[in-house]
Amino acid sequence: MALSKRITTLTAGGSDGWDVFIRARKMIAAGTPVTELTIGEHDIRTAAPILQSMHQSALGGHTGYAMVPGTDTLRDTVAKRTMERTGVPTSRDNVLITPGGQSALFAAHAAACDAGDTALYLDPYYATYPGTLRGVGAIPHAVQTRAEDAFQPRASDIEAAAQGAKSLLINSPNNPTGTVYSRETLQGIAEVCQRHDLWLISDEVYDSQVWEGEHISPRSLPGMAERTLVVGSMSKSHAMTGSRCGWLIGPEEAINHLITFATHTTYGVPGFIQDASVFGLEQGTSFEDAVGAPFRRRRDIAQKVLAEQNTVGLIPAHGAMYLMLDVRATGLSGDAFANALLDAEHIAVMPGESFGASAAGHIRVAMTIADDDFERALRTLCDFAERYAT
Ligand code: PMP
Repeated sequence: MALSKRITTLTAGGSDGWDVFIRARKMIAAGTPVTELTIGEHDIRTAAPILQSMHQSALGGHTGYAMVPGTDTLRDTVAKRTMERTGVPTSRDNVLITPGGQSALFAAHAAACDAGDTALYLDPYYATYPGTLRGVGAIPHAVQTRAEDAFQPRASDIEAAAQGAKSLLINSPNNPTGTVYSRETLQGIAEVCQRHDLWLISDEVYDSQVWEGEHISPRSLPGMAERTLVVGSMSKSHAMTGSRCGWLIGPEEAINHLITFATHTTYGVPGFIQDASVFGLEQGTSFEDAVGAPFRRRRDIAQKVLAEQNTVGLIPAHGAMYLMLDVRATGLSGDAFANALLDAEHIAVMPGESFGASAAGHIRVAMTIADDDFERALRTLCDFAERYAT
């Protein structure tokens, strides 16, 4: 039976960038220990009190269909968190609860783009982005950012691609680069969006993980609340990746239509997951800081280790759970480096090329293993790089 082009061309036929990861998993399955610095998942599990609240809620009967837009309590709690963090007036009418940030990204683009519309995104990018845009029938168009700018996007590059586009997707703190967009960067982006009447879809799932500078939500910039859809999630801030609970924040009219979209796609998020999310959010910023603390610590370790050599370069790591390392001095592509490192040292990292052409000659390291192991792996990685460079 023939399948739709939409579904068969989702990844545009190319490699989806997970080859090194899959090879590492095969080595592990065959009994070879591999240090995995590949996927963006905490090395801790969801905290027991959150699970207890989930359990209580389920035992209490919150196991039927939940309200499609999200429960009033969770929508209110997300609105309150948003106001506290950004200062933008936000009520439950601005909030749709979604099954994770990924589904919020899909819904946001469905709201912004018709089939055949151009949807802009920035390279390097989180692996699912182009497929998500294709999934709603939009035409993804990547705008390059540059290693020499520490991957802060230039407004002029976005401007050059903006004519006729419908939306722009940004992500700060950024996966895969660890970059946190400055006020100046965001201001430039906001001006382009206003000039070209673009929806700005702002993926802020790492908003609780900022090690230097501050997280600025572009929704808080003048004239932006009416054209910005913010993607949020419990996954990274509360180590609840498997619970699949996220949200979209936007203008009331957009959220109303998005609620109808949710009725026809996801039909909402389980009530006991939403109740546990309320409990998690009520623990406040100190809880979110504690979940992020290991990454901040390992970022500091990485700065120390990398300062002791000059083959591997560190893109300023200001947020999120990743390091973007420049390995161009080895003469290898990111892909060749990652494959050779896996073979020689049994350390798995993601080639920069998996995240787009702008990150060629780089590798992404997820800071998701215990501090000592992390430090040892980084030292081994640097020694390995030095052997190539000399
Ligand atoms: N955006 C970015 C930048 C991510 O890194 C991820 C997960 N790795 C997501 C969105 C989606 O997260 P989730 O669906 O778990 O909320």
